[in-house]
Amino acid sequence: MRISSADQNKVYDLLVIGGGINGVGIANDAAGRGLSVFLCEKDDFAAHTSSASSKLIHGGLRYLEHKEFRLVREALAEREVLLKKAPHIIRPLRFIMPHQPHLRPAWLIRTGLFFYDYLGKRETLAGSNNVFFDPEKSPLNNEISRGFEYSDCAVDDARLVILNAMQAREKGATLVTRTQCIGAKKDNGIWLVDLQDQQGIYRIQTKALVNATGPWVANFIQDQLAQQPEYGIRLVQGSHIIVEKLYDGDKAFILQNNDGRIVFAIPYLDQYTLIGTTDQEYHADPNQIEITDFEIDYLIRVSNEHFKKQISREDIVHTFSGVRPLCDDESDNPSAVTRDYTLSLSKQETNDPVLLSVFGGKLTTYRKLAESAMHQLHPYFKQMRGSWTKDALLPGAEDLESIAQLIEKIKEKLPEIDELLAQRWAHQYGTRVFEMLRNVHNLTDLGEEIAHQLYEKEIEYLIDFEWAISAQDILWRRTKLGMKFTYSETEDLEQCLIKLHRLRVKEQAA
Ligand SMILES: Cc1cc2nc3c(=O)[nH]c(=O)nc-3n(C[C@H](O)[C@H](O)[C@H](O)COP(=O)(O)OP(=O)(O)OC[C@H]3O[C@@H](n4cnc5c(N)ncnc54)[C@H](O)[C@@H]3O)c2cc1C
Repeated sequence: MRISSADQNKVYDLLVIGGGINGVGIANDAAGRGLSVFLCEKDDFAAHTSSASSKLIHGGLRYLEHKEFRLVREALAEREVLLKKAPHIIRPLRFIMPHQPHLRPAWLIRTGLFFYDYLGKRETLAGSNNVFFDPEKSPLNNEISRGFEYSDCAVDDARLVILNAMQAREKGATLVTRTQCIGAKKDNGIWLVDLQDQQGIYRIQTKALVNATGPWVANFIQDQLAQQPEYGIRLVQGSHIIVEKLYDGDKAFILQNNDGRIVFAIPYLDQYTLIGTTDQEYHADPNQIEITDFEIDYLIRVSNEHFKKQISREDIVHTFSGVRPLCDDESDNPSAVTRDYTLSLSKQETNDPVLLSVFGGKLTTYRKLAESAMHQLHPYFKQMRGSWTKDALLPGAEDLESIAQLIEKIKEKLPEIDELLAQRWAHQYGTRVFEMLRNVHNLTDLGEEIAHQLYEKEIEYLIDFEWAISAQDILWRRTKLGMKFTYSETEDLEQCLIKLHRLRVKEQAA
């Protein structure tokens, strides 16, 4: 919904453009330090790269080969920090790397794993070890007899974005979706920023502008600000396929390929295996990205070279694709382009307002990236408070003792509830589930069931607290029910959303 005209007249400290993980991370950190913050996202939160990742909070074992020690150290330490901040959406994950001596020698992998174990602070995650596979029980082809095991974490990427957006709002920030920044100009020490939503164009004033537009970062500087970007951006496509699970158990596999790249096979939503990712140079419009035939064949081939269970195109139940907005370091090989982030602060004349642009970055390091952004902005906002996000729990992690206990509490409140639904809610909402279940005393109070245990009450909560507007917002970014919904069930959800939105408008008019 459009903000009030009083808010349009105010001069914000910070206007953040882009509602991916980096934009919401910066908005959240800044709001918690007492700055007045406005964020606009042209589509939905996490609509692009931040929901198309491999969903890992990881140090990036492979980046050690490219000597990215700064990034790996920071990312390794962040695993433990983020695990504590949001244990409902982040879980420890053991990775198995089958040993292929002709690809990487054992001493090299052991050295890498030694660094991995000790480079960053590790408190709860287990260290690495050797593994030997029982040919009877192993899901891997029988010629693979040994390997290595180490720890990283899995995350619900889109929900990490939503939780940061919620926390930013709770700290006083204003965040709007379906609102595109179409231009900004400097005027007497401030930015005049033009935003376009469904109702038309309006203007916001701000002392500093943060360009967190991910794959659009360089184009935004050229087209909307009429300036030259300080750095180039390399767009590198990465895609995943989802198939019915290839093996039992809760461990992931990191598969080496003979082109030097690696592919993950990760247990996904109990029922599936997520296989990805690829690294292909991308030159088209990031809005239109889709998995290519080459990528599908590549992922199927790597999977079949490792697992006993063979797959073909017919086994694919879903695919998704994203572009990594990487800072161009002029590497020849897309896999070797730095995964680290660069922040560019520009202020051409003394009286000019500040522009901070984000190049690159990973989900894993979003919090540290936001802290760096605050550090760079500090000289212009001397009143800003100190860093706070390291120990602050994200929404839903408050009073959360364990997921098992939360599931029991949900069942105490609603004894007739299905176990799988209680599990889904506990992981998605953490303790905020009780906000959703306010005034709910029995299953009837949940309202109409659209399909697959998605009830009206949950949809209302997602509209009121999580900016959900369309069926796609709910099915792919607030939940992962998109894996289950058919075309006609999705239509039913759209109808329900139209009805609920109309009701909201009537209530507001009354
Ligand atoms: C295949 C793949 C796998 C990955 N796997 C991992 C992983 O496992 N772990 C990890 O840590 N990282 C991973 N990453 C990296 C990570 O996903 C990205 O670095 C991160 O999501 C980038 O976030 P962002 O906020 O910079 O960009 P985005 O998420 O793309 O957000 C930018 C937002 O800006 C908005 N925007 C653009 N222009 C405008 C405008 N003019 N006005 C308003 N809004 C605008 C866009 O709509 C978009 O939502 C992976 C990336 C890819 C592609």
